[in-house]
Amino acid sequence: MAEGIAFLKRNCICGVLGMDYVGREVILNGWVNRRRDHGGLIFVDLRDRSGIVQVVFDPSHAPEAHAIAQEVRTEYVLAVRGIVRKRPAGTENPELPTGEVEVVAREAEVLNPSETPPFSHQDRTQTDEFIRLKYRYLDLRSPRMQANLELRHLAAQTVRAFLTEEGFWEVETPILFKPTPEGARDYLVPSRVSPGNFYALPQSPQTLKQLLMVAGVEKYFQLARCLRDEDLRADRQPEHTQIDMEMSFVEPDDIFDVVERMLQRLFQETIGAELKIPFERITYAEALRRFGTDKPDMRFPLELVDLTDLVANSQFQVFSRTVASGGQVKGINAKDCACYTRSQLDNLTDFAKQHKAQGLVWLLVKEGPVLESPVAKFLSEEEQAGLIERFQARPGDLLLIVADQPAIVAESLDWLRREMARRMGLIQPGAWKPLWVVEFPMFAWNEEEKRWEAEHHPFCMPHPDDLDLLDTDPGRVRAQSYDLVINGVELASGSIRIHRRDIQQKIFDLLGITPEEAEKRFGFLLKAFEYGAPPHGGIAPGFDRLVMMLAGEENIREVIAFPKTQRAQCLMSGAPCEADPQALRELHIKVELPPQE
Ligand code: ASP
Repeated sequence: MAEGIAFLKRNCICGVLGMDYVGREVILNGWVNRRRDHGGLIFVDLRDRSGIVQVVFDPSHAPEAHAIAQEVRTEYVLAVRGIVRKRPAGTENPELPTGEVEVVAREAEVLNPSETPPFSHQDRTQTDEFIRLKYRYLDLRSPRMQANLELRHLAAQTVRAFLTEEGFWEVETPILFKPTPEGARDYLVPSRVSPGNFYALPQSPQTLKQLLMVAGVEKYFQLARCLRDEDLRADRQPEHTQIDMEMSFVEPDDIFDVVERMLQRLFQETIGAELKIPFERITYAEALRRFGTDKPDMRFPLELVDLTDLVANSQFQVFSRTVASGGQVKGINAKDCACYTRSQLDNLTDFAKQHKAQGLVWLLVKEGPVLESPVAKFLSEEEQAGLIERFQARPGDLLLIVADQPAIVAESLDWLRREMARRMGLIQPGAWKPLWVVEFPMFAWNEEEKRWEAEHHPFCMPHPDDLDLLDTDPGRVRAQSYDLVINGVELASGSIRIHRRDIQQKIFDLLGITPEEAEKRFGFLLKAFEYGAPPHGGIAPGFDRLVMMLAGEENIREVIAFPKTQRAQCLMSGAPCEADPQALRELHIKVELPPQE
């Protein structure tokens, strides 16, 4: 080794040290996690990726090493040669896996000093996330982030091993490509060699994986990076990773089967959790009816009860008028919550209002059973009896009702349902409730632009029973598409694809994509479909969300090594940043910014 680079190189890692090492000499390399100077003795907690071990520097045994220990500070990189010994009785640290032993230093070498870190791992959770993102490399040294990185690695390897066993091939697809319609804006990359032309970064490898099916690959997967320029929410990132999958000659059941077994293996091998298969399945229509959302959390019951017909002619005009104007009246039964105080009920009403409801009707079920509420006097005896029966209410229950247009009823009750489950402690820690939601609508109506949009993407095969509706009532066409939801989090979307050009053409027509535009945007795919495209379908579980779930994290940035902020910025590097004028000239690009406000 070249002069000057030689160092006291490790022959052991910190985290493995225990009683079986006692008496052995080891060389350790790592970072100073903490240093305590006890006047005579200095204790250094030395940390590497495998764990932490206590090193003792005794001035009477090794004065030179002790002098070095006097200089070192937190996050210095240190090499130590020493003897492992059992800690003196009473000084063991049961919190630390290596806590029965310590290393008595004989020699030490500072491999690199460190500035005083802007935060310590101990107070990481109190540290502003902006600081942690700026010094991401320091944040990643924390045991929690190291565990998350390791878990992510393990999850990726488990998925790869499983899918390989199942006969899938991992195929990489280009990052510089054409726009893929997944509902977000594209990130564009200008081409220097074709001035005025742009690549789009893939929102997903959707068209490419379909082409791989035409190419005879039959079973494809890729841990694919998907880039979407969209307004970011807490669990979104401008670039995310999907376990992108596609299979030929399959029906939805085949895809469900392989994904269920993959996740079963993944949960088992990473966190030792047992997922029961097959997963439950409901249709989109049923999910909306029973839970008000297409991603219901199935860990608790609290289903929505439809009261619309029951109160259509009620004296209580909030109900009857809403029904007359095409609205719905629905509610949930919060069992044993009749003890809620007026201020708690007001608070729930505010909560419902925050989620778009005009108000919240609450009814306490008292002995009888009878209903107690300011609105009870407007409800006839039959209506009251009907409500009690529909809610299967018993004395002690609290009935919460929203009357509004269907979309608002669904949204506010979905929120309320989850909020009540939280307040009532209905969610068992460690419970996993996966659910397939199937038969999504093919199209969504864009009221502003007065046109149909693809609910998922334009390549989903319509339900075979609904093909005729394409001409008569597109809004009722179901797609052969599905979502996987776990504990209320949408984890994957997929569909059986259109492999026939005539059907694809019809869908483009309905979406208002002219043949010329279709040719320009997807001509390469349509062309391929003329050369014997097999029936095929696929799915793409979101890998970041999956790891977030396995790690028990609530923030997706905690499972991504170098994430971006909500404003799509990398605080560590300062990306995005202005381009070099010379580079812009070569690309024939002139930047014109709007006037500053
Ligand atoms: N490409 C789709 C998506 O990113 C997933 C799929 O249909 O396989 O949502």
